[in-house]
Amino acid sequence: MNSKPRVRFAPSPTGPLHMGGVRTALYNYLFAKKVGGDFILRIEDTDQNRFVEGSEQYIIDSLKWAGIIPNEGVGFGDGPYAPYRQSERKLIYRQYAEQLVKSGHAYYAFDTTEELEEERLRMEAAKTTFSYNSVTRNSLKNSLTLSEADVMKRLNAGDTYVIRTKVPANEELRVNDIIRGWVVVNTIEMDDKVLFKSDGMPTYHLANVVDDYLMKITHVIRGEEWLPSAPLHVLLYRFLGWEDFMPAFAHLPLLLKPDGNGKLSKRDGDRLGFPVFPLNWKDPKTGEQSSGYREKGYFPEAFVNVLLLLGWHPEGNQELFSMDEMIEAFSLDRVNKAGAKFDPDKTKWFNQQYLKNHSDDDLAKIVMNDIQDKLKTGEIKFDNNFPANFDSLISNFDFIKEAVKITREKVHFTNEFWSVCYFFFIPPADYEATFIAKKWSDKAREFFITLKQNYQTAKTFDLSSSENIFKETAVASGVKPGEYMQLFRVLLIGVSMGPALFDTAALIGKEEVLKRIDQALQKLP
Ligand code: GLU
Repeated sequence: MNSKPRVRFAPSPTGPLHMGGVRTALYNYLFAKKVGGDFILRIEDTDQNRFVEGSEQYIIDSLKWAGIIPNEGVGFGDGPYAPYRQSERKLIYRQYAEQLVKSGHAYYAFDTTEELEEERLRMEAAKTTFSYNSVTRNSLKNSLTLSEADVMKRLNAGDTYVIRTKVPANEELRVNDIIRGWVVVNTIEMDDKVLFKSDGMPTYHLANVVDDYLMKITHVIRGEEWLPSAPLHVLLYRFLGWEDFMPAFAHLPLLLKPDGNGKLSKRDGDRLGFPVFPLNWKDPKTGEQSSGYREKGYFPEAFVNVLLLLGWHPEGNQELFSMDEMIEAFSLDRVNKAGAKFDPDKTKWFNQQYLKNHSDDDLAKIVMNDIQDKLKTGEIKFDNNFPANFDSLISNFDFIKEAVKITREKVHFTNEFWSVCYFFFIPPADYEATFIAKKWSDKAREFFITLKQNYQTAKTFDLSSSENIFKETAVASGVKPGEYMQLFRVLLIGVSMGPALFDTAALIGKEEVLKRIDQALQKLP
């Protein structure tokens, strides 16, 4: 009997890892941490036709970004059961396939693709579907129908063959799933699945079961799409004499489209404007790009928190979980059977909650880097309007921190800061036209000329003095202070809606305020 709990995430490197895959990895990780077990990353790359360059590294990078760190496995330092990449374990599998043939639980099949296709067409014509199974195998070209001598001759001659499971004719197979309870399948519904292919590689089924056994896996936690394979796997454990070592199974619910109709796919993401992948991905063959949560500006902690609640529910109504809290709260018996509807708006909300938890200092660091990135990618483009001290402003930590403090309530993502902050760094290139048309007048011009003079002679210029001087100037000019407040904002930042006015004035400072009033007086009619 296996003792220490050991679980594995076993993706195939066939493209970018879907967020559903990250959730599978997360649940495995949480389960392992909770019970003091091991979590393994195994790369299942036996299907060479579906191999996509770069996807293995993508899987590793995604797990690292999400903070889901395996104890053993490809990219994370090997453990006692290395190698963890199935293509490197190739030689291990054949003996088990042959063991199954010897014990009468599997057989060689020599049918060519053309012959099978012919059979398929013949059956279709008779209005039935072809399946290589306990009935049809008796009339096909395999080691059950051919003589032993013929079989040997073919094997020695190097004829192409596969090894198929000899699924019993009529038997109930029972899988005890932790999430779903007993799942019962009659073998009549199963075909004689291929275990070993002519290219010398095992199929998913054989490699998966053999490796779970050899790597001492105690719990198989994977997506619902693998539930149909589970009865065959149970059968293989029996055929190989490993019943006592059979892992427990837990098949996780699907991730559904926001409207609940069907599986969440990349196309939904494109259509509704949210990523379905953790990181950006560029297909090496087609060049097609897919967006990722990381590059959209999500905190990994928020992304993981969203995944936690897509398929699992806590005892109370807590929504925000740190990784430690997740580990503490997680259990497989609170995983739902029903598919989990993905909610893009709620996902943004989660990110905002995590943003709120960050200190001004943290955010300022992130924003400082983000500005550099945006300059590199050209999202921020220099033009004539940029002030001479732009470079010193974007490397002035205290200035950025203050900008963050004033605007942090307005954003869901750190990469949105620039769009609510740029005017602290750059004077307005133009002024909100409709507002100016309504509010700009000779009287207003007089007011701002006086205001400028009063600011010029002021001894101090900070949040309260800039506000007091503004109010005193208004009173002396016989206008209500409220009258020109918004207009003042337009003069300073170009738009009438924005962060608190005198916070803005204090941040950009006396000299810059005077310059911007001057610029407005020159540019406005
Ligand atoms: N290689 C399978 C996948 O791509 C693994 C399924 C399993 O966990 O058994 O998801």
